[in-house]
Amino acid sequence: MKPHGPIPAGYTAIDGELAVGGRKASALVKEAGGTPLFVYSRSLLEQRMADLRAAMPPALKIHYAMKANPHPAVLEVMADLVDGLDVASGGELAMARAAGFLPREISFAGPGKRDAELLAAVKAGVTLNLESAAEARRALEAGLACGTAPRLAIRVNPEFELRGSGMKMGGGAKPFGVDEDQVASLARTIIAEGCDWRGLHIYAGSQALDAAAISDAQGNALATAARLTAEICTPLPHLNLGGGYGIPYFDKDKPLDIAAVGARLQDLLDDHRNDLQGTEFAIELGRYLVGGAGVYLTRIVDIKTSKGVTFWVTDGGMHHQLAASGNFGAVVRRNYPVALASRFDAPGEVEVNVVGCLCTPLDRLADDVLLPQAQVGDVVAVFCAGAYGASASPAQFLGQGPAREMLV
Ligand SMILES: *Cc1c(COP(=O)(O)O)cnc(C)c1O
Repeated sequence: MKPHGPIPAGYTAIDGELAVGGRKASALVKEAGGTPLFVYSRSLLEQRMADLRAAMPPALKIHYAMKANPHPAVLEVMADLVDGLDVASGGELAMARAAGFLPREISFAGPGKRDAELLAAVKAGVTLNLESAAEARRALEAGLACGTAPRLAIRVNPEFELRGSGMKMGGGAKPFGVDEDQVASLARTIIAEGCDWRGLHIYAGSQALDAAAISDAQGNALATAARLTAEICTPLPHLNLGGGYGIPYFDKDKPLDIAAVGARLQDLLDDHRNDLQGTEFAIELGRYLVGGAGVYLTRIVDIKTSKGVTFWVTDGGMHHQLAASGNFGAVVRRNYPVALASRFDAPGEVEVNVVGCLCTPLDRLADDVLLPQAQVGDVVAVFCAGAYGASASPAQFLGQGPAREMLV
C-alpha cells in the first residue's frame, strides 16, 4: 500500500457522501451535467484569503498569479479578494479584464511577449515586468506608438534561489528576468527614456513548505532590491517579492507555517524602513490561494483485476490532472490526496490503482491506495485540484476534451 496526501480542510460528508460548499458531490455532478468535473469552492477561496491576510503584515499586498486557475468564475471571486493580478500572456490579460480586474491592478510577466501583447498592455496601462533589455526596448517603442508612458518594472533574475522549491525559477542562467548585475543600468536607461517606473519583481521559486526557506528568500529579495535601488538612484515605487508558498500534496507534507512567515516578513520590512522608504510591497501566489479550494470528480467506468491488482478505471485522467498523474515536473510519482466521494466517510477496505481512460501507462491518478469498496458508477475525488489542473493539462490528448468546471 502507498499513502495518499492529506485531504485539505473544509471538505465534509453529508449522508456519507463528499460535500463541497454544503452540497453533495452527486448533486453537483448532476447540476454540471456529468463527470469529469472540477468543483471550486467560493467559501474555501474566501477562507484561505482571510487566513492569509490575518498572518501577513497588514501593509503587504497580495497578488494572484492567475495561471494557477484562470476559470472565469474563480477569477471573478479573486477580483474581490486580492490586491493585484499577475498575468503571463495577452490571453490571460484579456481574461483578467473580462473578470473585472482594473489595468492598474495587473502586472504582466513572462518571457516571449509579442509586440501585440506589449502594445495591448501599454495601451491599457498594465505594468510590464520586463524579462530582457530587448523587451524593454520594444516596450518603450510600444509606448511611443500609443503616446503613453509605459508602466515598466524589471524582473530580476536573482543570484539566490528558494530552498526546497518545487520548480526553480532563479539562480544561474535563466530565460526569466534580467541578470542582477545588469538591472541597475537597464533601470536607469528606461527611467531616462521617460517610462513610468514601477520597480522590481523578484521571483525565486515555487511550492516551498519550509517557512524558514521562504523567509530567507524574502530577506534576500529585500536586500537585493535595496542594493539595486541605491544603484538606480531613484526611489523604488513597488517591490514584488515573489511567492513560492506551497501546499501539502503528498503524505507527510506539512502545511506552510504562514504565521511564522508573516512575523518574519514584518521584521524584514521594518529592517528596510529606511533604504526602501515609500516602497509598496507585494507577494504573488498561485496554488496557495486556489489549490485546496478545488476538487476533481471522476466516475468509475470499469473495475477490473489484472494479476491480482485491482484497477478502478475512471472517465477522467491525466488530460485534466497532469500534476496528480505525476507528469508535471515530478521526479517520483506520489499520490495526491484522493477519496471515494460516493462513500467519503467509509473506512479504507481495498487496495486499488485508480487510473484514467487514456491509453498510456502514464495515466494514473492513485497507486496502491486503500479506499472503501466501490462499484462502477461511483465517483472518485482528487483533491488539491484547484491549481494547475484544467488549464495546465493536455485536454485534447486522445480526443478526450476538457472537463466540466463549476464554482459553488
Ligand atoms: C507560476 C508563477 C507564480 C505562481 O506560482 P505558484 O507556485 O502557483 O504560487 C507566481 N509568479 C510567477 C512569476 C510565476 O511564474
